[in-house]
Amino acid sequence: MSDQTLVEVGYCALCRTAVELNEHGRCPLHPLQQVVDICEVRLREVDNAKANILLIRARRLRRELIGWFIALSGLLVLGYVVIFIIEF
Ligand SMILES: [Zn+2]
Repeated sequence: MSDQTLVEVGYCALCRTAVELNEHGRCPLHPLQQVVDICEVRLREVDNAKANILLIRARRLRRELIGWFIALSGLLVLGYVVIFIIEF
């Protein structure tokens, strides 16, 4: 295969990692599983792309966790305020 060959990589939730997709755009091990974060890269950049997908997912997950944390602490503060208002 030449250096210019394009392959698709994406994240398979069942593999819990980035995988090289087959010709149907699916994970070779889990053809029924929807693959997300798909990108098309040159063959020699596959490992880079996989690492990148995992990095982006880790960042997104951390952002979501921070978002949840802020939402929860907001609810807690709201709860305290409501209790404060009711008691006084
Ligand atoms: Zn899979």
